[in-house]
Amino acid sequence: MVELIYENPKIYRIFVPLPENPLKLLNSYVIITENRNLIIDTGFKREECLKALLGGLKELKLELEKTDIFLTHLHSDHCGLINKLTTDNNKVYMSEIDYDYLIGNLIGDNWKKIEERFKEEGFPNDIAFRLKESNHAKRFAPDKIFEVIKLKNEDKIQIGDTELIGIHTPGHTPGHMCLYIPKEKILFSGDHVLFDITPNITSWLEKKDSLGDYIESLKKIKKLDIKTTFPGHREIGISIYDRIDSILNHHKERLEELLEVLSKKDSQTAYEIASQMTWNTRGKGWNEFPDNQKWFATGETMSHLDYLYCRNKIEKILDKDNFYKYSIK
Ligand SMILES: [Zn+2]
Repeated sequence: MVELIYENPKIYRIFVPLPENPLKLLNSYVIITENRNLIIDTGFKREECLKALLGGLKELKLELEKTDIFLTHLHSDHCGLINKLTTDNNKVYMSEIDYDYLIGNLIGDNWKKIEERFKEEGFPNDIAFRLKESNHAKRFAPDKIFEVIKLKNEDKIQIGDTELIGIHTPGHTPGHMCLYIPKEKILFSGDHVLFDITPNITSWLEKKDSLGDYIESLKKIKKLDIKTTFPGHREIGISIYDRIDSILNHHKERLEELLEVLSKKDSQTAYEIASQMTWNTRGKGWNEFPDNQKWFATGETMSHLDYLYCRNKIEKILDKDNFYKYSIK
């Protein structure tokens, strides 16, 4: 399904379904100008996504030779189908940081390191083993390496007479980028700001404080003059400024809740702490929570623990069994 969402420049939204995924839907945006077009994000590398994306592009009578692609970040629901869109005559734009990280996922040992990291944070081996098979991020990632033009903060992209600026917004991923059209005050927010779900903030390899980075990136976007925001998933909201305030408040409350869990007992792993936090479990307890949701919840808890640790609020000790244990200071 395709929907016209902006008149000048012409911007369309293609609804790409994400089966078996709580995000439900990816918004792939298409900017059409007289001589050049731009696709923003693709969907997972799976049949249902490919069918919807190609169907939408066909409906728009888009020629891929005249169409460049911008990827907001390295997650597979945003870049999985990239190799279905590249030709000898189009370009792919992506932030340098996320591109390099993605290469580490595709041909390096990032996943192995992440699994080791989660193990040290108390994540159970049996669940990690089951997840190895079902991990959507791994299964539906791009099938091979692709060439990109690497972007840095505030690098520009010209599509016909429309100028766009890449804004580096680390947090959700280390190199996440929003795309801004200054003339129209439009922001493509990727997964940095979503309106009806809270973006997942996890702990990343070689990143000390993803949540701190994320909060800074929210404040950075707040300073931009934005009239219209097109998010990476689900509904297009009205005021990005109100939404940023409510996301900031959400994390403040989560940090308070985490300190409360720690105040009840010293020396707990991130996994133990995560199991006591409030999650949207649809009435089920932690034990019935699906494996992948336990993984996301643990990652989210780790990023909040990192935030408190960087601000000297909690202690962290590696015990003799190689588990990180957290206590309140
Ligand atoms: Zn994402």
